[in-house]
Amino acid sequence: MIGSVLLTISTTHSPATDLGYLLVKHPAQLQSFSTTGGTAHVFYPQATEDRCTAALLLDVDPVELARPSKGQKGPDSFSLGRYVNDRPYAASSLLTVALGRVFRSAMKGASKDRPELAATPIPLEIEVPALPCRGGTGIVARLFEPLGWTVEAVPVPLDPAFPEWGDARYVQLRLTGTVRLADALSHLYVLLPVLDDAKHYWVSEDEVAKLLRAGDGWLAGHPDKELIARRYLAGRRSLVLSALERLQGDTAATEPGQDEEQAEVPERRVPLVKLRKQAVLAALAESGASRVLDLGCGEGALLLELFADRRYTEIVGADVSTVSLAIAERRLKLERQPDRQRERIRLIQSALTYHDDRLTGYDAAVLMEVIEHVDEERLPALERAVFGHAAPSTVVVTTPNVEYNVRYETLCGHRHDDHRFEWTREQFAAWTARVCAAHGYTAEIRPVGEDDPQTGPPTQLAYFRKVA
Ligand code: SAH
Repeated sequence: MIGSVLLTISTTHSPATDLGYLLVKHPAQLQSFSTTGGTAHVFYPQATEDRCTAALLLDVDPVELARPSKGQKGPDSFSLGRYVNDRPYAASSLLTVALGRVFRSAMKGASKDRPELAATPIPLEIEVPALPCRGGTGIVARLFEPLGWTVEAVPVPLDPAFPEWGDARYVQLRLTGTVRLADALSHLYVLLPVLDDAKHYWVSEDEVAKLLRAGDGWLAGHPDKELIARRYLAGRRSLVLSALERLQGDTAATEPGQDEEQAEVPERRVPLVKLRKQAVLAALAESGASRVLDLGCGEGALLLELFADRRYTEIVGADVSTVSLAIAERRLKLERQPDRQRERIRLIQSALTYHDDRLTGYDAAVLMEVIEHVDEERLPALERAVFGHAAPSTVVVTTPNVEYNVRYETLCGHRHDDHRFEWTREQFAAWTARVCAAHGYTAEIRPVGEDDPQTGPPTQLAYFRKVA
């Protein structure tokens, strides 16, 4: 037999057979479609009022199947073929192409016969018996759970008779959740190839559009959107950047560019990101600085403000992430600026835990929401590089006040996945005092945002001045 059941979608929504209307595939018929890499079939192993299951089966072209896949040696080609599938059967991108083709209107959320049902989250269960997955079962959960799915991902052993061979790069996936069918299909369409991380066709500019279309409404807010874009677009940097930048546009209405801020009190009139920028700009203005460093500038939220203010005659944005720097560069629209303006600003890649001579001789440095992204044991290296080596007259540091986290009802854990720590007011004050003593600065700590009588403010700012 050529082919294997690759994906099933079940619902217990009553009447469950309405699934046939949503998928626009009649439960009583087997339907076949020719698609890239073979033929796709849709049929219903079960179709009752209580429970209905649609199966998408892909017959892979035997010629393609016979071609040995690169780097495949050893026992896996045999045992996998026996146990579940050979690689071409399970290849996610082929499956995805088939999904997009066979369920195109369902994925758009269109349904002539059941429009209200198409717009309603319904109980769904999706199974993929052999999903190629790079990065282990943990990544499956990371990608699907934020979208409301309960994830069961079991690694498939190469051969159950020889456990010592270890697990294949396949997992057996089961997703359950109450989700709109169109969203479920879009999640699969994007995330199956992301998990596989091995696209079989050349990735071009239209893939960005496809990704954004399929990710509409959920990708911009996904905590792993960067990983998703990177893998989906096969790591093609310019495409990844263009996708992230356009996604950034989607979230700009809420909070520009920072996932962490989404957890932060939406009902407040002035968003915290804005208050924080204002507080930093006020401190810089007070210092009288004109040549400034934005260290860990990220996607350039502060750089845009500095650039718009003529008092800053020389601005340097430094970050370790080239992706962030490239986004910052595009947001600044430097190519459209006259030379005189363009010369005021420079973006450089720099790791702040290393001495960097390019950062010496400036009036002021800002570390806005940066220190908490550095491992605590590496922080002394950053202190030496910034306060000891670069040693500007003014340093402005902001960081979350962890005591305030209880005010974020939905927050558990840190405000952002990448935070290595979040400090209390006392811890921040102790750190500030230590830095001052070690490097010859004085400092004043200021609240940013509502200074809650119990917890203190959401953000704490330290304004350091070098002792002459
Ligand atoms: N200051 C920006 C970005 C904050 S996010 C803003 O407030 O919008 C933290 C930034 O610090 C990220 O862009 C990250 O790449 C950068 N970063 C983290 N560790 C770094 C290091 N060791 N050297 C340089 N940049 C670093």
